[in-house]
Amino acid sequence: MADISLDSSIGILPGVGPKRRQTLEAAGLKTLRDLLLYLPFRYVDASEITPIAQLDPPQTVTLHATVVKHFPVRNRGKRSMILTTIADDSGQMTLSFFNQPFAMSALKIGERYAFTGLVKLYKNRPSLSNPAYEPLNRENLVHTGRIIPIYPQTKELSMRGVRQLLYQALFSAHLRLPEYLQAETIEQEKLMPRDEALAEVHFPSTLAQAKAARRRLAFDELWTLFQAMDEQEKKRRHQRVKRSLSLRQLEKNLGDFEACLPFPLTNSQKQACREIATSLSQAYPTNHLVQGEVGSGKTVVAAFALTQMAQQGCQALYLAPTTILAEQHWHTVGPIAEKLGLTCSLWTSSDKQDEQADIIVGTHALLQSKSSFQPGVVVSDEEHRFGVKQREYFWQESVKPHLISMTATPIPRTLATLLFQGQEEASFLQAIPGKEKHVTTRVFAVNKLRDHFTWLEKTVTTSDQQAFLIAPFIHPSETEGFESVFDAHSLFSLAQQSMPQARVALLTGEQSEKEKNRLLEEMRLGKYDVLVATPVIEVGIDLPQASIITVTSAERFGLAQLHQLRGRVGRQGQASWCFLVPSPGATNLDRLKQLEHIQHGNELAELDLQLRGAGEFLGTRQSGWDTLEIASWFDLPLLQQVSRLQTQRTRVVLPEK
Ligand code: ADP
Ligand code: MG
Repeated sequence: MADISLDSSIGILPGVGPKRRQTLEAAGLKTLRDLLLYLPFRYVDASEITPIAQLDPPQTVTLHATVVKHFPVRNRGKRSMILTTIADDSGQMTLSFFNQPFAMSALKIGERYAFTGLVKLYKNRPSLSNPAYEPLNRENLVHTGRIIPIYPQTKELSMRGVRQLLYQALFSAHLRLPEYLQAETIEQEKLMPRDEALAEVHFPSTLAQAKAARRRLAFDELWTLFQAMDEQEKKRRHQRVKRSLSLRQLEKNLGDFEACLPFPLTNSQKQACREIATSLSQAYPTNHLVQGEVGSGKTVVAAFALTQMAQQGCQALYLAPTTILAEQHWHTVGPIAEKLGLTCSLWTSSDKQDEQADIIVGTHALLQSKSSFQPGVVVSDEEHRFGVKQREYFWQESVKPHLISMTATPIPRTLATLLFQGQEEASFLQAIPGKEKHVTTRVFAVNKLRDHFTWLEKTVTTSDQQAFLIAPFIHPSETEGFESVFDAHSLFSLAQQSMPQARVALLTGEQSEKEKNRLLEEMRLGKYDVLVATPVIEVGIDLPQASIITVTSAERFGLAQLHQLRGRVGRQGQASWCFLVPSPGATNLDRLKQLEHIQHGNELAELDLQLRGAGEFLGTRQSGWDTLEIASWFDLPLLQQVSRLQTQRTRVVLPEK
């Protein structure tokens, strides 16, 4: 197979006909590279061979034994069963195969096979059901008698099939990824050579080798990505902006801007405004990040950027992840703009005002509208809600706008970008003095919910405090495994029954924007005490009286998301509470307990990734955080190594907490 490339279709492998190819492609395995990088998510060590006489159930073992006889058992037509006796030098035992009539012809009497599976005690004897097996005459074992790679399985894609195919590709077709590092570097840096890494990650000789192999592949992934990022960065510095502002003018304007606010800016906000001013005065488009805890006052900092650009005759856009939030921002920015003689309009899917206004506040609908917006600056709030595609949308024009993103919990990629590119275009906001938030966080079991409601009812009816009750789903789920997850409708009924004195309202994503807004307005006016909601309230809703938030089925949320949720209470700096209630039977509550101690968003974002990524790199893929599949954004030594080798930079600075 000399003339094939890694981009060749998987269909060129022997044994992959059109039908098999379709199945593989549906699972995302289109090219040989896709296949080679379809990594196992764990391994089962079946390399040790256990004699039958030494079985000590329950344990997962590999046996090398000869098939003695088969005994088919009819089970009243329900399911077929075959009892197969096997023997090795030390003794005999019986295997059972359920619904595998073919095992009888596959396992030939008198021949030796390797069997791997979980041995249990059944009627006081070791028993093994539906083991994996392979003939022992083969030199190399693929599915048994070795450290076995375990791959993600789908209904269509059998793990055995994938494993077989990989074995073939690696050891019959000798497919390998090309090496790009010099032998000298590989040795100095103690990296595993790439061809070895590929073989070892799939069919490791030891678990330590598997780990080293994975590290090398993670290195490669970061290498490619960093290179792409570096290129993008170089390109950015050569792009032209619609308008770059004068730094001196901006600094002068800061006073006028502040005079339009109902409060003086904090030092930290002032500094952020100055840093943004520097970025806006660049000749190339900025990609400025403003990171600040929930409640640190990011909105007025956004307003500064927006009004300054607008005053220079260039339209400014402010994007929010939800309509509710867009309206809220519009209420904040509008009056400031007006005082500076600027117009500001709202642009959502339901409410499209003046498209020509100096400042437009809107949602994603803005990106889809393909209107004639030619902004000089785009500020996007809570960046982790924007997909990469959406963020790149504005970069397609020939002259680019400046881009500013604001977040309390940066996505890992953002952290890494800062680390890699430096922090010139980033600002960190401190809490507003006197408004430092302290949300006391507690995890409690679901059986305490009744007591909790009693307390809650008393609290909200005897003070002007308000509370949120959160559930992950809107309606009860009938999907297997999700029956015990709380839903907003059931929680609403439960809350009404348990707290008859409290005025309870329900807010979910299925209500119309109008209805949601009406509800929030009534909530703001104090018409309700408790708002039952889905995580639609996660981002940025500002209800000053809310001081208690109780999240049910809390294990369903990421830590960063929970942090966003608890940021919804205590908006005035009042003492407030966050209660986390796991679903009945939920495990791994340690993750939630971390929230009792950690108050800072970026710390949590890191921890979340570490915890969810730990041992199962698939976790990071599923959680939708970012695009890394093998490496982790928080493998700092590896990030540093790649960065050092690529740029010869030696000093890597982490953003401050
Ligand atoms: P963030 O978006 O960072 O979570 P917001 O911009 O919503 O925070 O601000 C939180 C609250 O703090 C708002 O009610 C806002 O009016 C108020 N605020 C912002 N800046 C100041 C300031 N310098 N002094 C006093 N209050 C402020
Ligand atoms: Mg905000």
